[in-house]
Amino acid sequence: MGLLTFILATSIAVLPPHKYDRPFHGNLVITEHQNILEQCGWHVACMRGPYRDFRGVFCEISIPKQGETIYSLNYSKWYGKVDWWWTKQFIKHERGHCNGWPGYHPNQRLVKRK
Ligand SMILES: [Zn+2]
Repeated sequence: MGLLTFILATSIAVLPPHKYDRPFHGNLVITEHQNILEQCGWHVACMRGPYRDFRGVFCEISIPKQGETIYSLNYSKWYGKVDWWWTKQFIKHERGHCNGWPGYHPNQRLVKRK
């Protein structure tokens, strides 16, 4: 399962290599949560899948609500206010896991906010 690591406080996102940074071929379900740290076991975003059921192939992504300020205390510390830029990075990261990027984040790309 893809647990998320966004490191180095507020301005650097960990993104998957390009081969995993693409649309998910299936049903991508993205849910915003007010209590994301509880939802994701102290990670600031997380995913489940891909899995198949009678409806097709699914991947579910949980991300924090925009406007929330989050202090994550786990090893992958993240602190900051969630805005649209972060929402995009969280989705790209987790969608990478939906596309098969392993949970230990090989060949990650660190993207600095401009
Ligand atoms: Zn991850």
